[in-house]
Amino acid sequence: MDEQQRRARDETRAEARLTAARLSGEGVVAVALTYVDNAGIARVKGVPLRRLADAAVEGIGMSPVFDVFLVDDATTTSRYLGGPDGDLRLFPALERAVPLPAQPGWAFAPADRFRQDGTPHPACQRRFAAEMTARAAERGITFRAAFETEWIVQRAEDGRYPTQGPAYGLHRLTDLSDYLRDLLLALEACGLSVQQLHPEYAPGQFEVSVAATDPVAAADEAVLVRATIRAVSAQHGLRASFAPAFAPGGVGNGGHLHLSAWREGRNLLALPEADGEAFLAGVLAELPALLALGAPGVASYLRLVPSHWAGAYHCWGVENREAALRLIQGPDAAANAEVKCFDQAANPYLAVGGVIAAGLAGIDARAVLPAPVQGDPALLPEPRQPRRLPTDLDQALTAFRASTVLRDALGDVLFEAVAAVRAAEQAALGGRPAEDVIAATRWRY
Ligand code: GLU
Ligand code: MG
Repeated sequence: MDEQQRRARDETRAEARLTAARLSGEGVVAVALTYVDNAGIARVKGVPLRRLADAAVEGIGMSPVFDVFLVDDATTTSRYLGGPDGDLRLFPALERAVPLPAQPGWAFAPADRFRQDGTPHPACQRRFAAEMTARAAERGITFRAAFETEWIVQRAEDGRYPTQGPAYGLHRLTDLSDYLRDLLLALEACGLSVQQLHPEYAPGQFEVSVAATDPVAAADEAVLVRATIRAVSAQHGLRASFAPAFAPGGVGNGGHLHLSAWREGRNLLALPEADGEAFLAGVLAELPALLALGAPGVASYLRLVPSHWAGAYHCWGVENREAALRLIQGPDAAANAEVKCFDQAANPYLAVGGVIAAGLAGIDARAVLPAPVQGDPALLPEPRQPRRLPTDLDQALTAFRASTVLRDALGDVLFEAVAAVRAAEQAALGGRPAEDVIAATRWRY
């Protein structure tokens, strides 16, 4: 190790000690180093707080095999990854470490993954999101992003819904006011800025949205929000499901991604703005392939059906909740794109990184948008109906494999691991009755 490396190491250790002191002051005794695998499952290694400085300097060991884990914890192999050999190091993002108020004594720290020799792991999804953000920054573009979180609760003891209140109804909020208050307090105590909380359409379904932030932080927060909802739900005798499909034929849980793109203080999505349009057009063009990142499970396609507000058609629209890509106009600063076809089986780092990569490709190609679609595309006369997005995981995987934009952005190692996981989940669950697919995935995410 040379002098410069030694100095960097000492600085990291000093920073970690400060972080540990901060967390200790808030009652933390253990840290959950967390990352999300390609199947959309958050995996974890816990360390006692006194080990945080070691973790920050040396990392914590974890097998690369999780890059080819499936939603049911089976494994597959890809061209570059799989099998029992090798080890990676998880490094906590110290600046993002926060106490988990609903899991007293624990803190959450999203992790980046490196090889044992200290070089970045080429399949680290969090790094991918950071790289796409950096790629945009080279063009002077920054983002503000946020994931919406929808979930369905049932009583843990008997699997019944804890409220019979109607969709969006005050009745539901009244029935569960203690739960929802505790949830708001817990989310805010994690440093999240809750924008709104409301009952959603499906029985027992709710939604929370948090303020937009930079893309990597938005993905970190998506993980943190879900962990917090799960913990507060358990404290109230409830069980939370974030799965894309919960009941056959019902409205599912979305994981909509909101994104605005900024250059020199201007919101590029406040159209008309050529690069804003090109960004949207790039995202729209790649949507079928992007579904392999944003709607990555077999169950995703039980949700992604017409007239369920999931965005099942390959189109964009202004303020159209049935368009896969919805442009929200608002005042200039609030204009943003909502990718509606995504759900929470997605690894949020892959989802946001993939959308940025597609948008940048659109800017490079000076892409232009087709006409927006208004109204529910399912109700349009046949000749004016846009094409459906992939209707199963197999179709999404075919589009993904054909996407040079996503292969270039992800790099071969990550791209092949994602493709292998999709193919294996399709082989395991594709074509099975909806009830079976739902039963296999309902409580997994
Ligand atoms: N639950 C719907 C979905 O699956 C979204 C409802 C809404 O428009 O917020 O995406
Ligand atoms: Mg919603």
